[in-house]
Amino acid sequence: MAIINGKEIGQKIRESIAERVVQLKNQGVTPGLAVILVGDNPASQTYVRNKQKSCEAIGIFSELIKLPEDTKEAELLEHIQSLNERKDIHGILVQLPLPKHIDENKVIATISPEKDVDGFSPVSVGKMMLGQETYLPCTPYGVMKLLEYTGIEIAGKHAVIVGRSHIVGNPMGQLLLQKDATVTYTHSKTKDLPSITKQADILVAAVGRPNFITKEHVKPGAVVIDVGINRDENNKLIGDVHFEEVEKLASHITPVPRGVGPMTITMLLFNTVQSAEKTLSQDK
Ligand code: NDP
Repeated sequence: MAIINGKEIGQKIRESIAERVVQLKNQGVTPGLAVILVGDNPASQTYVRNKQKSCEAIGIFSELIKLPEDTKEAELLEHIQSLNERKDIHGILVQLPLPKHIDENKVIATISPEKDVDGFSPVSVGKMMLGQETYLPCTPYGVMKLLEYTGIEIAGKHAVIVGRSHIVGNPMGQLLLQKDATVTYTHSKTKDLPSITKQADILVAAVGRPNFITKEHVKPGAVVIDVGINRDENNKLIGDVHFEEVEKLASHITPVPRGVGPMTITMLLFNTVQSAEKTLSQDK
């Protein structure tokens, strides 16, 4: 059994992104990411802080726009529109979830597709479905990089995805399909889940339930990717996969933490730098 070390792979990718940042700066462009945080959800605050720190570490300019919980939707949309216009901002990210009175779909659709480095806007999702060039959503894109760096073959493999959310499960299956996997989606209405997950050569868990995937769900020799981020009773981070049970069966497995988590931010940095490079080549 091999552990897929997302921290190490993420670090390697970040080093190559940092080199691209230097090249951009030599040509007078500093990549810029704007992060909008509405309200004071503690988890969101931590995520945003980590994203900013990661930007700073590799020389990306990051600007935090912190708005109060009772911000009106129209005001948030105005902020996005002005960021869409700004030359020094190449990526815009709105930290989710948003307060209930704000329409998330409307907000995401307002981000210019050229700056949608999260890859959540309808234009980005549409392009991804069509296999056209676009910003891919960071978590599934990060999983694809983990598989690539680990040298795991995808073509012809049966990939089973547990979860079908717009940000993880759904795009995950699409990206694997584009690399010629045979993909099965499962979700909360799926009957007899273990009989399906047991067929997986590549099993991706994106459920949001601690230790949900146990040895009953896994075929010996499977590659197991754990996207889940949960907290146990001691506030310790744990995944959706029961690691101790499943590591004995899997050929490869991602731990939590230091698995998929570091890849999500890595791909956000990747998309932001790519956007800055595109702007530079268009301006030339
Ligand atoms: P959602 O809650 O949006 O989606 C969960 C999915 O799991 C849904 O599709 C749901 O099915 C499915 N599900 C729930 N219960 C079952 C069940 N009993 N059997 C089968 N499927 C089930 O979560 P997200 O996709 O946003 O996130 C999933 C996990 O990944 C979370 O732990 C989250 O914290 C983590 N995450 C980690 C990231 C990272 O960087 N590593 C980034 C983003 C998320 P249905 O659609 O039918 O409701």
